[in-house]
Amino acid sequence: MTDGAIKTTRAQRLAMPLAREVVQDLAVEHGACIRPVQLRRTNLDTGDVEQVLVPCGHTLASVCPSCAERARTLRAAQCREGWHLEHEPVTDPDPATEDQRWWIQTRADAQALRDQAASAGQDIGDLDELVTELDDEITNAGMRGKVLPARPARRHRSTKRRQDAPDLPRRKVRSRTVGKTYTAPDGKTFRPSMFLTLTCPSYGRVRDDGTPADPGSYDYGRAARDALHFAALFDRFMQNLRRFLGYDVQYFAAIEPQRRLAPHIHIAMRGTVSRAELRRVLAATYHQVWWPSTSAVRFDGDERPVWDEHGCTYVDPYTGEVLPTWDQALDAIGSEDEPWHVARFGDRFDAQGVLPGSKDSARCIGYLTKYLTKQVADCHQASTDAEQAHTARFADALRFEPCSPLCANWLRYGIQPKNARPGLIPGACKGKAHTRDHLGYAGRRVLVSRKWSGKTLADHRADRKNWLLATLGVSATDPGRYTWEPVAPGDPDHMEHSRRLLHAVADRARWRAALMEARRRAAEQLEPESAIGKVA
Ligand SMILES: [Zn+2]
Ligand SMILES: [Zn+2]
Repeated sequence: MTDGAIKTTRAQRLAMPLAREVVQDLAVEHGACIRPVQLRRTNLDTGDVEQVLVPCGHTLASVCPSCAERARTLRAAQCREGWHLEHEPVTDPDPATEDQRWWIQTRADAQALRDQAASAGQDIGDLDELVTELDDEITNAGMRGKVLPARPARRHRSTKRRQDAPDLPRRKVRSRTVGKTYTAPDGKTFRPSMFLTLTCPSYGRVRDDGTPADPGSYDYGRAARDALHFAALFDRFMQNLRRFLGYDVQYFAAIEPQRRLAPHIHIAMRGTVSRAELRRVLAATYHQVWWPSTSAVRFDGDERPVWDEHGCTYVDPYTGEVLPTWDQALDAIGSEDEPWHVARFGDRFDAQGVLPGSKDSARCIGYLTKYLTKQVADCHQASTDAEQAHTARFADALRFEPCSPLCANWLRYGIQPKNARPGLIPGACKGKAHTRDHLGYAGRRVLVSRKWSGKTLADHRADRKNWLLATLGVSATDPGRYTWEPVAPGDPDHMEHSRRLLHAVADRARWRAALMEARRRAAEQLEPESAIGKVA
């Protein structure tokens, strides 16, 4: 032992921070990704090979705080940009290129050949395969959508309004998407927009912590179904709002749970609607779910339908009777039957006008993006016994509720799920909605209408990158000059995670210093001008 070394006790050693954890903390502090992905970049002109670390891009803070925060600020930018637009966003697609037109022509020829062969009773396996490959090429060539509808036509059900739904005047929806301007007495014009919060109805009185005052009478079943169909209900609401207001209302919306674990939705809406009008639209909005009845449990516990290999179908384990298929069960719903579920919003809503660039606007964007880096279930931690019991009861209610036509739970009610396959067990459906992470809502957390900012998230990301490059005074690298490939763990140049993390911290620190320097320089250049401005 050298003289310089100091002997430490075990307790002292345990109190010393773990070097690797400090690296990770530092990475988070600098905003560096803590799970950087290693790519090998080859310069095609010079043959030089470089190792490049790219951020993992995860949106959950529990996985990567830095990437999640970047994703959140990107959403905030998207929200801000669309909320108070003064001009219609340009969403006209570019004209098709020569290349794109060629692929479509080839696809058309293949379809003609295939249909000809099919009507002649010939084998069309190869032609179908060709058609699928061509469809992929069409996507690769930068065209949106498919040339043919993917699914067979949806079955049509009567969507006649229920008696108890108040009627809503319908206007022709014009293509306008920007809100109206108002002129104040002093001649100033302004274009307000709205921040709305819509909630689910009451399932029973709740305390301040969101737990039911009387858990026995709290309607967990209804709460579960409303959560499962929340996104569809919101869709219906927007449809009604557009018809009622007569223009193509645009929105940026975020779905998150309330303390009582029911979802609610914050909506940044372009343009305005009065509270009275909003109340009318909400009262008229409902979403009917026409699913087979689940009022009678036919198989419970260990009793469950068995898969018949020969018939590729589920049968009753005792009688061998083939259970009705999904389509048969749907067809059995009679005209006198009630819908399986009718989802509605609650009476309580919140609506406020917001002016562009105001403090309110910034605060609302904060609300809209606050919980985006968390799983639904992590937004409110159940800490007390009452909260934990409430979460458990809600999870129980979700367990046997069918989440979709494909759900294994249909077997419990003696119905084969759509696309039935072996191995389905009621109560063990793999659908996300049943898991505690999702609390019944498995859809996307952010819903943005198509003409919100006229840009995709990728466009907003590119905007940010361009701004950065411009600030730093760097020109973008020409993507055509490089090839990129992922580095696999067995490769000689593979860096293990802890080394990658060290590099990520160093890269980020250098980059931040460069950005600060660029800003300082920009400020210096601006100063003389503003000084002149003051004198004048
Ligand atoms: Zn990351
Ligand atoms: Zn399910």
